[in-house]
Amino acid sequence: MIHSMASAFTHQLTSVALLLLLLYFPPISESNNLFCDAGSEYGGPQCGIQSSSKILIKGGTVVNAHHQQIADVYVEDGIVVAVQPNINVGDDVKVLDATGKFVMPGGIDPHTHLAMEFMGSETIDDFFSGQAAALAGGTTMHIDFVIPINGSLTAGFEAYEKKAKNSCMDYGFHMAITKWDEVVSDEMEVMVKEKGINSFKFFMAYKGSFMINDELLIEGFKRCKSLGALAMVHAENGDAVFEGQKRMIELGITGPEGHALSRPPLLEGEATTRAIRLAEFVNTPLYVVHVMSMDAMEEIAKARKAGQRVIGEPVVSGLVLDDSWLWHSDFVTAAKYVMSPPIRASGHNKALQAALATGILQLVGTDHCAFNSTQKAFGIDDFRKIPNGVNGIEERMHLVWDTMVESGQISVTDYVRLTSTEWGRLK
Ligand SMILES: [Zn+2]
Ligand SMILES: [Zn+2]
Repeated sequence: MIHSMASAFTHQLTSVALLLLLLYFPPISESNNLFCDAGSEYGGPQCGIQSSSKILIKGGTVVNAHHQQIADVYVEDGIVVAVQPNINVGDDVKVLDATGKFVMPGGIDPHTHLAMEFMGSETIDDFFSGQAAALAGGTTMHIDFVIPINGSLTAGFEAYEKKAKNSCMDYGFHMAITKWDEVVSDEMEVMVKEKGINSFKFFMAYKGSFMINDELLIEGFKRCKSLGALAMVHAENGDAVFEGQKRMIELGITGPEGHALSRPPLLEGEATTRAIRLAEFVNTPLYVVHVMSMDAMEEIAKARKAGQRVIGEPVVSGLVLDDSWLWHSDFVTAAKYVMSPPIRASGHNKALQAALATGILQLVGTDHCAFNSTQKAFGIDDFRKIPNGVNGIEERMHLVWDTMVESGQISVTDYVRLTSTEWGRLK
């Protein structure tokens, strides 16, 4: 990282046991030029090579979501032209020996927040630094959430187009819906038909800012259905969280542990089942972002078993960490782990891993939303003011490898599916 970010994974022991040969070949387009323009530190030497290059990656085990085989990968001008054994090439082709290594597509992180204004501050990673971190960790595309400005989707979209100008890799957008009226409903159509955004997130938490009530949730689901767009939810009961927070403050619990205590798993379970049932009522698919608890996961399992189209996204912090860090006596350390829904007690993480391995949950995001320790310190006397969010955009690929593949819970092809290709299939 190029700044002192509060990393929730500093204490995580990780070993990248294999040499991942992760490809980063941006399409020959705008993003390539942006990569070059973005600065000499990351852009310099690669720019010339990428504009007209011929590369052969030889003898690696090429893995996709369904199959793996020993093969060569021939790449011309940033595009994979051929994947087959024993490709012969001329002297003008740069040959990279990948014998004994896996050759995989770059990761796609379906859930990030770069340059997001939130809780009186702005996330410390902008599109450039966040994407540089992503690339360092093997992720070559991410989907960020456009946050509307005073409810306006158009204004929000324009602001995010500006924020994303210093991008150095591929990205896409979901859009949050933070209020409801005819204008928003019309703007959703513009986003789908003209701006290429076809996933919309509704917040059932963050009372007083992003939260919407059930009436609006139903309206939003109906609109998604009519547009053929995907409805997504942040599933926590915001009214009950508000009550839980009040309770903690009354008890004199003001530290980061109050964050976890004020919004227990049952509030995530309640909102998850409510969203699932309302989506069933409207008859539209539902994507539950950052599934952090057994309670939420079990609701998704039940719905999927009954044949409902529900997609569950765990995030890497929920899969590998537990809430013990929130009880750390040092505020700076504990505050790093404050995100919503909270990182849960030990046991939830293992259950989420098992759900991912058995297909109850489908793909892994990060909810990368990084604040530094100065920003986290806004809440030194009151956990409600600690900006919510942890990192992960750089660490996701190797942590999922360590936790899921090294442990034998999933295969290498599964790994490619849930870190990369699944998002494309959903769309
Ligand atoms: Zn959220
Ligand atoms: Zn998020």
